[in-house]
Amino acid sequence: MEPLSGGCACGQVRYECTEKPLVQFICHCRDCQYASGSAFSASVFVPRDRVTYLSGKLHHYDVMAESGRELRRQFCSACGSPISAHWPASPVVEMLTVASLDDQGIFNPTHELWVSRAESWHPFHPDTVKLQEGPDEELVREPLRAYFAARKN
Ligand SMILES: [Zn+2]
Ligand SMILES: [Zn+2]
Repeated sequence: MEPLSGGCACGQVRYECTEKPLVQFICHCRDCQYASGSAFSASVFVPRDRVTYLSGKLHHYDVMAESGRELRRQFCSACGSPISAHWPASPVVEMLTVASLDDQGIFNPTHELWVSRAESWHPFHPDTVKLQEGPDEELVREPLRAYFAARKN
């Protein structure tokens, strides 16, 4: 497959990823609203060791996510564009923001999380499974577990 590529608004941060997305979500939690500056965040989960940051400088801040796990959100130190996030305690996946992708058209979300926190002024995606709160075990961990179990290197 073609590698995924992306970066920030000012062009200093650039990355590429050599694996296709494992999980694709829209999340309406309060923290994602702050991080995106909008009603929700849209992100793709990829294996973290398949992502290479090619240029620019990322700053980060750590937040306690609604799940109770600490999440590290990374953004361009120059222009502030949100780029990615991961769980420092278990950094096997990187969540890339859809806005940072060069080709946002690849985004095909399967689920929407925390719809109980969603803003009333923005409609939902017509084709996603809607969850009142965060993802359950089967939804996120199972596809990731299956991917890493099947991986050869
Ligand atoms: Zn930038
Ligand atoms: Zn969220």
